[in-house]
Amino acid sequence: MRKGIIAALAGIVLVLAVLFALRSTTGVEIRLDGSVISDTYEETMEYTQGMTYDVLEEQLLSRVQFIEDGTDITAEVRLRGSQEGLVSLGTHELEFVRSDDSVLLHLRVVITDTTPPTLQGTASYTAGTGTSFKAENLDLQVYDNYDIYVLDSVQLSEVDTSRPGTQQATVTISDQSGNTASMDIEVVVRDDAEEAPIGTQVFVQEEPDDLTLLLNATHQLPDGWEPTDLESVTHDGEGTHYLRKEAADAWQKLYEAAKEADISINVVSSFRTQSYQENLFNSYLAVDPDAATYSAAPRTSEHELGLTLDISYDHELHDDLQTSALGRWMSENSYRYGWIVRYPQGKEDVTQYIYEPWHYRYVGVPLATYLHANDLTLEEYYAQRSGEASR
Ligand SMILES: [Zn+2]
Repeated sequence: MRKGIIAALAGIVLVLAVLFALRSTTGVEIRLDGSVISDTYEETMEYTQGMTYDVLEEQLLSRVQFIEDGTDITAEVRLRGSQEGLVSLGTHELEFVRSDDSVLLHLRVVITDTTPPTLQGTASYTAGTGTSFKAENLDLQVYDNYDIYVLDSVQLSEVDTSRPGTQQATVTISDQSGNTASMDIEVVVRDDAEEAPIGTQVFVQEEPDDLTLLLNATHQLPDGWEPTDLESVTHDGEGTHYLRKEAADAWQKLYEAAKEADISINVVSSFRTQSYQENLFNSYLAVDPDAATYSAAPRTSEHELGLTLDISYDHELHDDLQTSALGRWMSENSYRYGWIVRYPQGKEDVTQYIYEPWHYRYVGVPLATYLHANDLTLEEYYAQRSGEASR
């Protein structure tokens, strides 16, 4: 029985001790979110985006309550030494004072950032063999609630571009508090020996004097380049037409051989200047959005090379030229003089041109003979050669 009384007394003393401890030295009861706290208190808060001291202080003042002798005196309490601007991470000592400047509450607020940044962006990339693929090549959208420079933290795991194939890599970012985010990407390392798909990438040919030059929508002449050895060519039509010297000489031999076989040839079109091709193309394009399938953009027309002729037997261009005496003779003999039908029937997908039986290109006897024997276009020939080079 005595023991019970002692225990009860001890319990009462303990409760009183706790109440005394919680009772502030000023005799004012302090509540935070409804719970009684002592007049020295530590609170941890998560940083929210754009948190200013104004916002923080307003938040805290709305959460505390001061009661003196049963009367709520919160309205007369203010924060001393208010700051301005954005809240920084870390510990902030705040003093809640009443109108007579006496301190009612020392509040230590620890502002933390445990929110990871977000990381989004392009997940698939291409790179050339042997090129360097770095973090700067990434296309990312990053966001962090606190760290506006989080993009500077981007880390990319190593990408091996030494050989073609698909590489996996990881992108990681971290904010100032060490919160991280990551995403997986893939880098397709191209075999640069492969021809780029037509219409996607443009190469400017660096040696435009080459008689076997490939010229098409993706392989262009340098701006301003024009041949310097043009000569007029013999033909049975009207007007003067020009070719580069070697092509003009080869044409002369072909023309004479055709004459022997009683074939006459008109030249309808030959060398064109860059500005002529520009005007021609624009005039087609003005009336037909598909003009690119039969007329070449400036710097991509073989007529700008001085190695090309459009031919006819009656000054007009004919889709069925190959059924005429001229067409049959040319099909059998032109390659012997170094000339090929540049846009053959059945190869429209390769050349990206409609069949043009009238458009002849000089490439020299060896290459013309090879293309004729193997039924190849210039595009196929160059694709084959670059394929061999990469093996
Ligand atoms: Zn032509």
